[in-house]
Amino acid sequence: MYSEKMQKQYERLGICREVYEFGSRIEEKLKPRFDDFDVTAEYNQAKVIRAMQKCRVSAECFHTSNGYGYNDLGRDTLEAVYAECFCGEDALVRPQITCGTHALAVALMSNLRPGDELLSPVGKPYDTLEEVIGIRPSKGSLAEYQISYRQVDLKQDGSFDFEGIRQAVNEKTKLVTIQRSKGYAVRPTLSVEKIGELIAFIKKIKPDVICMVDNCYGEFVEEREPLEAGADLIVGSLIKNPGGGLSPVGGYIAGKKEYVEQAAYRLTSPGLGKEVGASLGVMQSFYQGLFLAPVVTNAALKGAVFAANIYEALGFDVLPNSTESRHDIIQSVTFHNSNAMTAFCRGIQAAAPVDSYVTPEPWAMPGYDSEVIMAAGAFVQGSSIELSADGPLKPPYSVYFQGGLTWYHAKLGILMSLQKLYEQKLVNRDVIC
Ligand SMILES: *Cc1c(COP(=O)(O)O)cnc(C)c1O
Repeated sequence: MYSEKMQKQYERLGICREVYEFGSRIEEKLKPRFDDFDVTAEYNQAKVIRAMQKCRVSAECFHTSNGYGYNDLGRDTLEAVYAECFCGEDALVRPQITCGTHALAVALMSNLRPGDELLSPVGKPYDTLEEVIGIRPSKGSLAEYQISYRQVDLKQDGSFDFEGIRQAVNEKTKLVTIQRSKGYAVRPTLSVEKIGELIAFIKKIKPDVICMVDNCYGEFVEEREPLEAGADLIVGSLIKNPGGGLSPVGGYIAGKKEYVEQAAYRLTSPGLGKEVGASLGVMQSFYQGLFLAPVVTNAALKGAVFAANIYEALGFDVLPNSTESRHDIIQSVTFHNSNAMTAFCRGIQAAAPVDSYVTPEPWAMPGYDSEVIMAAGAFVQGSSIELSADGPLKPPYSVYFQGGLTWYHAKLGILMSLQKLYEQKLVNRDVIC
């Protein structure tokens, strides 16, 4: 909170008095919201500790294994902890799962067979899944294995198109994929409660359909997770929320035992399943990251809400808006101005503990039809639970902002982004001063 001493400290980091004081006024108003986030974090911290106690996590769990990784106590116990924590029957939590997309691909490819159909009742899934599914033709896609895909878009107001979904479910529908976070789409993020309503509706039409939730960016944002609302499988990345910033790699799949088992046989090999997979020294970071995940997610949420309130006050379009309830950690700010978007990203970069001296430049990236600008000064490459921002440099010039291992770092990042905009006269100074 505001003090002269603190103001001087921020000044040493390059934040001028006007920006610091403006930020302090915004932060003051957010106290009740932050208190709510703290309650959720406390609840979830207890959940994680209880799961670790129940599964009898011990110092031996941090030992490493190599080669085949038979009888790896740490790995097997961690999977029990994830299952317990997320209310599943079983879980697969591995460094051999390279990222979120890989985890989702394994869950899909292992539980679908030729002739089956996959349904997304919440519109277009995350970009990278287009190639997994074969929406964009790609080597090894589900489409190449005669697994068809159907999609029902959300209605204009963001609600489910129940009639459309009823018509889309057919005798081939085997698995329904529900993305919790909006990702980089313009639609609301789904609350666990809403996901529960959707699953109940689908199960009424077809009880044996597998309901999978892409849980990326959603873990620990609420007190309940999708398996508690009727989902059969949840899938996510360990360099997002549940890795707590410490996991150097990895992904997880949790839920009903038979579906997790299918995934294990696909990830390793038929006949081998969960029995192999050396832990290669990452176990302590997986455990400790999960232990910290509730408070790290809390920090990221505070950062997102702080950014929404700062930039909304300055007249920019923010999504979610300054007062909406939160169901993931992503915040978008639309600048309608390429210089402002670039300045924002440069501010985030300048506030980082790592690579703070580099200047983000827009560049052409595979798979994008415009230049992309990214800011990330992270301990783990590409980790988006660490403070980061990116977006395609084209109208409407929207930047997606997420992460922050500590609230104080998230706050500094946002103040620094504003500092850059302020210096370049890209914001209304009357609002700030
Ligand atoms: C990040 C993300 C993915 C993909 O994860 P990667 O680790 O980037 O492969 C999938 N779905 C959603 C909603 C995500 O946020």
